[in-house]
Amino acid sequence: MEYRPLGPTGWQVSALGFGASSLGGVFRDVDEAAAIRTVHVALDGGINLIDVSPFYGLTRAETVLGKALATVPRERYYLATKVGRYGHDEFDFSAERVVQSVDQSLQRLGVEVIDLIQCHDIEFGSLDQVVSETLPALEHLRAAGKVRAIGITGLPLAIFPAVLDRQRVDTVLSYCHGCLNDTALLDLLPDLTARGVGVLNASPLAMGLLSHRGAPGWHPAPAVVVAQCAAAAAWCAARGADLPRLAVQYSLSLPGIASTFVGTASPQHIADNLAWATTPPDPELVAGVLQILQPVHNLTWPSGRPENN
Ligand code: NAD
Repeated sequence: MEYRPLGPTGWQVSALGFGASSLGGVFRDVDEAAAIRTVHVALDGGINLIDVSPFYGLTRAETVLGKALATVPRERYYLATKVGRYGHDEFDFSAERVVQSVDQSLQRLGVEVIDLIQCHDIEFGSLDQVVSETLPALEHLRAAGKVRAIGITGLPLAIFPAVLDRQRVDTVLSYCHGCLNDTALLDLLPDLTARGVGVLNASPLAMGLLSHRGAPGWHPAPAVVVAQCAAAAAWCAARGADLPRLAVQYSLSLPGIASTFVGTASPQHIADNLAWATTPPDPELVAGVLQILQPVHNLTWPSGRPENN
């Protein structure tokens, strides 16, 4: 496993990170014992950064992750969770709620400190409130020793400079913009790097678009993106190649990113991801898939408030 520095934190994080949303049954019904084994396979394979949120499975992912981590020495992993998003349409970035939320996460996760606390999907809230109320509340929690680093997450890339122009954060987490069908995150990297922010990239399989099972029913991508990704999967299969493998290797090969979070609750899938992470993507396969995806390249979808898109 390759380890890379994460912005100003001083941490060396694994290039492949574990995204724990799957533990909450976001993609399918999940067997808890298998989910716990998945976390252990991830850590044993060299992953040292885990991302979760109270939103995933409406607190279930944090609870299952807490059970998995109960038997793991604390120094073996950096733990990232979030505040502000609690349901599909439930957001609360108030200082009071985020302080309460961190205490609840600490309890569910069974730890004394959260390494990285992130404001979750801030485009659904008021960026003014995030800057003037949420982030200062998290700074108080840092001073109190409950969290060590502070970040923001969301889909529209414009939210990151909009906040960073007004307030310092340690990390940004972008998703579905650092993968085979969408590399828009790369355009923002020089700016983020110049600001010294750690860059986290989530969803190398574009939240299932680039998997064998295809996109889940709730996937927000336009139908044309879903169709082209399915065509890319079929093209790979016809050559005896594997689109998920290529997708993971491609995201890991992108420059300027500290860690890429892949999500799964399957011990076999995380073992596959770990094995794939050790080799670069086949350039010919990348070229073929990028050609199929060219008509939908960087085609995204609106998320949150119109003014934040
Ligand atoms: P992903 O791109 O990692 O795709 C997950 C899907 O890919 C699941 O259906 C999974 O079963 C499948 N998959 C994973 N490994 C596979 C393999 N080896 N073979 C075949 N299929 C495989 O998307 P994700 O889970 O949404 O993103 C990863 C993590 O990133 C999340 O768990 C979360 O922690 C983080 N994330 C954060 C935000 C945010 O903060 N707003 C948004 C998206 C993702």
